[in-house]
Amino acid sequence: MLPQEVLQQAQQQLLDYQGSGMSILESSHRGKAYEAVHQEAQANLRELMAIPEDYAVLFLQGGATLQFAMVPMNLLGKNQVADYTHSGAWAAKAIDEAKRIGSVHLAADTSAVRPARVPLPAELALTPGAAYLHITSNETIAGTQWKTFPNTQEPLVADMSSDILSRPIDVKAFGLIYAGAQKNLGPAGVTVVIIRKDLAQRVGDSIAMFLRYATHIKENSLYNTPACFAVYLLMLFTRWLIKQGGVSAISKRNQEKASRLYAAIDGSSFYRGIAHTDHRSQMNVTFRLPTEELEAEFVREASACGLKGLQGHRSAGGIRASLYNAMPIEGVDALIEWMKDFEQRQGKVRFAGKSQEVA
Ligand SMILES: *Cc1c(COP(=O)(O)O)cnc(C)c1O
Repeated sequence: MLPQEVLQQAQQQLLDYQGSGMSILESSHRGKAYEAVHQEAQANLRELMAIPEDYAVLFLQGGATLQFAMVPMNLLGKNQVADYTHSGAWAAKAIDEAKRIGSVHLAADTSAVRPARVPLPAELALTPGAAYLHITSNETIAGTQWKTFPNTQEPLVADMSSDILSRPIDVKAFGLIYAGAQKNLGPAGVTVVIIRKDLAQRVGDSIAMFLRYATHIKENSLYNTPACFAVYLLMLFTRWLIKQGGVSAISKRNQEKASRLYAAIDGSSFYRGIAHTDHRSQMNVTFRLPTEELEAEFVREASACGLKGLQGHRSAGGIRASLYNAMPIEGVDALIEWMKDFEQRQGKVRFAGKSQEVA
C-alpha cells in the first residue's frame, strides 16, 4: 500500500515535473531534476534511520532476491563460512542461494517449529570467525518477526524487506541491511541496500562489476540507469514518513494496529493465530479459520467489500493481513469489524480449543 497523498503528488507532477516541461519518467538519470530526487531519497533514509557516515545507501535492482546472491558473492570468502538462520520461506531462499556460492552453516533452524517462530539470539550456534550472520528480520509469509537482534562479533546481515522503517533499529548493529522497496518503502523496482563501506572491499576481481557493492558505492548508485521512477516514489514516500513524525511515530501506530488485530483474533474461537505469541509480526498478521472452505469464503467476501489482499501466501494458505507503514488504523478497524460480522454469520463451526497447536 502507498499513502494516498504520495499517489496524488505523483499524479499531479506526472506530466510536468516542477515546471521542467517534462515528466520525471522522461528525465535523464544524469539530469538536474533526477539528481535532486536521488539525493533527497538517500538523505531521507539517512535521516529516518540515523544511518552513520561510514555506511552507504544504495538503490539497486533485482529485488531482495538478487541480494540473496550478492551478499555471499561480496562478503563470503573462499575459505570462510557464513552463518545463516533458517526461520521460514524467505530465509530458505537466501540460504539456498548462498550455498551455491560458498560454505553455509545453519546457526539455528526454526523453520519446522509450530506455532511458527524465529530463533532467539541465545539459541544461535555461531561459527568463530564466520564471514557474517544472516537473518530475516520479518518472515512475511509465516508472520513472525525478530524482537531483539543478536549482538555478534561477525557482521550481521538482515533481509528487512517486510519491516524496514516500521520500527526503530540501530543501524550500527548491522553490517548490511537490504530490502525490496515494494512492501514498506514504495513501489516495486528498487532495492535499498545499507552497507558498512569497509565490507564492500572484501570482494575479489572475478566478480562482475555490476554485482559488486563497491561499484555502486563508487558511482553513488548511478553506475547504470537506476529505476528512476521507483526512486522518485521512494523519495515521496520517505518525505511523507518524515512528515508523519518519522520511525518512532509510525512504530507506535504499527504497534497499535497489530495489537488491535491480534486482540480480535485472541478474543474469538473462530479465528486462530499462526505465529507463536512471542514472535508475532507487527507487519503480517497470519491466522486461520476452522476450515479451508471458510477461509476461501472469507477472502472472497472481504474482497467484494473492499478489503483486498487477505489471502495467505500460496505456499502457506490461511489469511494474512499485511499492515505495512502506509496502512492507516482505520483500515485495521474496518477489517476487525468485518471479521466480527463474518463470524456472526458463519461462526457455527469452531476450533475445538484455543491452543496454538495448529499446523
Ligand atoms: C518479498 C520478500 C522478498 C522478495 O523480494 P523481491 O523484491 O521480490 O525479490 C525477500 N525477502 C522478504 C523477507 C520478503 O518479504
